[in-house]
Parts: sequence; C-alpha cells; structure tokens
Amino acid sequence: MFRIILVCLLMLLLMPLSSGDSLQAWQKQIYDHTESFPHAALYTLQQDELLMQEMVSMQSQHYKTEPEPYTTSAQFIAVGDIMMHSPQVPSGYDAATDTYQFDAFFREVAPILKEGDWVYGNLETPLAGRERGFHGYPLFNAPDELADALKQSGFTVLSTANNHSLDQGIEGLRRTLEQLQDKELTAIGTHLSLEDANDITFIKQHDINMAFLSYTYGTNGIPIPEEMAYAVQLIEEERIIQHIQTAVAQQADVVTVALHFGAEYVREPSEAQKELAHRFIQAGADIILGSHPHVVHPYEVVTTTDEDGHPREGIILYSLGNFISNQGPAQGTPMYTDVGIIFNITIEKSFPDHTITFPTIESIPTWVHKFYDNGKRQYRVLPIETFLANKDDSFLREDEYTLMERYMKEMDEHVHQYILETPQ
Ligand SMILES: [Zn+2]
Repeated sequence: MFRIILVCLLMLLLMPLSSGDSLQAWQKQIYDHTESFPHAALYTLQQDELLMQEMVSMQSQHYKTEPEPYTTSAQFIAVGDIMMHSPQVPSGYDAATDTYQFDAFFREVAPILKEGDWVYGNLETPLAGRERGFHGYPLFNAPDELADALKQSGFTVLSTANNHSLDQGIEGLRRTLEQLQDKELTAIGTHLSLEDANDITFIKQHDINMAFLSYTYGTNGIPIPEEMAYAVQLIEEERIIQHIQTAVAQQADVVTVALHFGAEYVREPSEAQKELAHRFIQAGADIILGSHPHVVHPYEVVTTTDEDGHPREGIILYSLGNFISNQGPAQGTPMYTDVGIIFNITIEKSFPDHTITFPTIESIPTWVHKFYDNGKRQYRVLPIETFLANKDDSFLREDEYTLMERYMKEMDEHVHQYILETPQ
C-alpha cells in the first residue's frame, strides 16, 4: 500500500507547479489520497511530511511562489493641546447671526494637517452645549463649532481623556462624544458604556491598521462616578499594558497610546514618565502621544526587541505642547506656552513580513498668533517656517517675526536634543 502512495507522490512530483494555490491543492490531493487508504495513513504520515518538505524546497528552487515584496505607507499627523480659554470664545462669535465659527484658528495650518491619513489632537474641553454657558479655565465648555473647525481643518481623531474631561460632569462628557460622533470625528479615551470602553478603536489607512488608546493622569479632583469607572480612562500601567497587548492580538500594525501626563510648564519629561513610556513601547506600543505640560518636550526614538526576537522602533512624543490656547508670555504664562509642534510621521509597512518602520519624522513648529482685527481679538495657529519664508503677512509686526525666528531656531534644537544625543 505504501508503494502505491509513493508512486502517487512521485507522479505528483513530476507535475508542474506554478503557484502557491496549486501547492495547496496538491497538498490536499495527497492527504485526500491517504484518506482513501486509512490503514496506511498512520504509517505514511511521517514520510509524507518529509517528502512534502523536500518537494516544497524543490518547488521554491524552481518556481517563484513567494509574492514580490512591496511596501505601503501612510502619514500620521499629531498635535498637542486644543484649548478654548475664555477670550477665545468671542473671537468666533458673529453678533449679526448669533452664531460661532472658528475656522480662522486653523486656516493657516489646514494644508499641512490635510496631508495626514490620521490627524490627531487632544481636545481639552467638553462641548456641553450653549445652555450651560461657555467657559474657559477652570471648568471649560466650548461651542460645538470648535469641533466643526477641527473637522474642517483635517482632524480625524481627538483624545477626550484629560484633566478637563469631567469639567461639565458626565452629561458634558456624553454630549461631547455625541457632538464628535455627529461630525464624524473619532473620540478616544472617554466612553459611555463598558462595551464601548472594551472595544479598541482601529482606523485602517493604506492597509495599515492603527489602534488608538488614550488615558489621563486624572480629572482635576472631579470624581468619576463609581458605576461609570470606564467613562474616563486613567493611566494605570498594568491595564494599559493589557490593552496594548489586546490591540496587538487584534492585528494592529501600529499601536498608538495617548497619555495626558507630566508637569505643567516643565520643558522635559521626568524620569518616571520616561520609564513608563519605555515600558509601553516594550509592551507593544509604537507611538506615544504625550500632552498636558502646555510646552513641547523633546521626542525620542527607541529600539526594542519583540518576543520573537525582531527589533522594533517606537516613537515617544513626550509632549506636543499647546496647539491652540490663550497662553503665552504676554498673557502671564511661561515662555513657549504659545508654541506647539505638528509631528508628521511617515509609517511604512513592508510585505510580506508586515514590518513597520518610520522613515521620516517631521516636526513643524507652530505659534499661536493673537491679534486684533476690526477691534476684535483673533487667534490663528501659524506654521512658523512658512511665515518666516514669506514675511508678507499684513497682521504680523516686525517684533513678532523676530520672536518667530527665535522660536524656530530654539524649537528645532529643543525637540531634537534626544535624537542628537543618541549615536546613529
Ligand atoms: Zn491638561
């Protein structure tokens, strides 16, 4: 009986093979054949395996069955804190129509943001509705039109887990999520049900599947209702590591973790922050998005080794600074609180091995320009380099250009200092 099988196998060996599909059909044929000789099956199983291995190796020598390697890439864009301090609210108000519109905040950076396949920022205010009255610090409540302006300028993902998540209570949190959903903006880090909290957010672009997780150090002492502990995701190391591992198990190509943490106005992360971020990278995270200090921190690129021995790169953006706010030295907060960075990261995925690399990490310094137009206080986020190159803006004064020149130079050095320290 074994001889019959061997003959069959040899006959099959002589058959021309041209693709992986035909190899599978061929394997199936062999096992189907063995099944029709049940008492021979046990005896031949091992020999079958050996023959199969040999034939597969012969096949790969003579016929190219592996698909051609190829890559796909997508742009990930991230900014820091999106604040709505009280003087910003009237800047978008139109008394004639009694409506708000904040598109001017982001008009100058929108072309950069729109290059992103995922565009992320930290929304540090609830959208709790006009009836509650609009407020700045300490209990924020911003008009819904802020979200319209964010959508309009290219944002796709907003973290809502920060120390202001509960400024307008659970109702504020609920309404914020509803507003963002209505405007087709993905919110991460706050939830209205346990089911939603357990369901990791994935957004796939150009065949790259990105998982988004988000956590905050706290909620300014406003308690999270016990029966809704999932409403605001808090930084708890073990749980975050579990979530990262779940995201990896659910086929994430890139795991992005937003962390609202750090000391306000301090320009570098603490040792504890560094260690925590490194542990998350080690656990499987690929990008860490830090916010809260209101100033930009240097970023870091770390190499870790996965369980299977493969090296993997991780990017830690410790703090992205203020993207928009009323803060700045002229408003009584420290230097650099009016500066942010837009990070534009190229993510490349190689097939067939599915490895992820970051070939370029671009950092674009931005400055919040506060000015008066027709007697009304206005705000706009300016990409510093572009405005310095043209120097033809009718609202910018000479001393403001000088300040932007200083910021451009200092931010470039500041943000890259950890990269320069690391020998290449
Ligand atoms: Zn904060």
